[in-house]
Amino acid sequence: MAHNCDAIIVSCIDFRFQKHIRNWLDKNFTNKTFDYVGFAGATKDLPTIMNQIDISVRLHSIKEVHLIHHEDCGAYGAESTPERHAEDLRKARDEINNKYPGLVVKIYYLLLDGEFAEVS
Ligand SMILES: [Zn+2]
Repeated sequence: MAHNCDAIIVSCIDFRFQKHIRNWLDKNFTNKTFDYVGFAGATKDLPTIMNQIDISVRLHSIKEVHLIHHEDCGAYGAESTPERHAEDLRKARDEINNKYPGLVVKIYYLLLDGEFAEVS
């Protein structure tokens, strides 16, 4: 039986950010449904994340992808700079756009204080 949802959310596992993400979801996805992937470094291991997105597209016909990287990410260690996160987020967005041109992909950099900065 088909059961579709609106979006997939991809974020890091880091416990410090889950409350911020829940608040953001409560505010912005009130009337939406979504699949959720928590993986250390979010899209750092892009093939793994692409596999999850493939499944979400196939099983739930999603329309949107929201990718959340965050400040002070242990999976990146010393490489956890805003520039590196923006670079990896754009790389992930490009790969998803190439494979699924119909999907809307939004990318964010979440700060320790809970602010979601949308990456262009
Ligand atoms: Zn992290």
